[in-house]
Amino acid sequence: MLAATEILDRAGVENAKRDAGLILAHVFKDDIGILYREPDRCLSATEKAEFDALVARRASREPLSHLTGHREFWSLDFLVTSDVLDPRPDSETLIEAVLKMRAQGFQPQRILDLGTGSGCLLLALLSEFPDASGIGTDASEPALAVARRNAERLQLANQAGFRLGNWGEGVTERFDLVISNPPYIPSADKSMLQPEVSEFEPHSALFGGEDGLDCYREILAQIHILLQPGGLLVLEVGIEQAPLVGELVVNAGFVAPEYHKDIAGIERCVMARLGK
Ligand code: GLN
Repeated sequence: MLAATEILDRAGVENAKRDAGLILAHVFKDDIGILYREPDRCLSATEKAEFDALVARRASREPLSHLTGHREFWSLDFLVTSDVLDPRPDSETLIEAVLKMRAQGFQPQRILDLGTGSGCLLLALLSEFPDASGIGTDASEPALAVARRNAERLQLANQAGFRLGNWGEGVTERFDLVISNPPYIPSADKSMLQPEVSEFEPHSALFGGEDGLDCYREILAQIHILLQPGGLLVLEVGIEQAPLVGELVVNAGFVAPEYHKDIAGIERCVMARLGK
């Protein structure tokens, strides 16, 4: 463990000790608690070989979720592969924003998640609204395969459907809630990303053109045939993009955009109602 922590630390991994522990727990096929319940447990030869191989992959900055195949989001366990964006705690801001609307009486029946990836936003929402159903779209068939497996594993497959397409392409019905975490990183910012992101996550889920806002423009060009009048739009945005995306949604006919901050205090979510 000590040696592994040092290897990861030297490779520039941010939370070297935590990641070494999580890799060890994964090799033991258990949760992190195993390291405290059985502090003296030794690795078998096979386990040691597996542990060393995984530490080497993590040292090459492959994300932990790609090694374990899982990532938690909204306290649900999601399968993750290199075909999908890793679910991030920042995105839970969108779920919280919708739940604040629920507290004011909003009860969505039909939810559309544009660019669903792992399905984390749609499935977390459907777990909160058991009477609702929804559709997740994605331009990547391998991503949809991951989303479908997540729906099955979380026993939400009866509420969730998935379709291949660019945003709402081919979707003919209207929804009362549309949610999206589109790619929004400006292309020139690639060099500022951690290697875990820039080298291992799908670029089609990260980059949103020169100013990062291309996908919002594409989504807003389609939104009137996807969202019911009075319906709610909830978008994840990148750093300092909230007022810019707020302006785009107002220009597209939405009223009173609200901004919600993530756990780091960054405005991460733009939420607005479509005018009636
Ligand atoms: N939040 C991600 C990151 O900064 C980007 C996700 C996205 O573009 N939607 O790495």
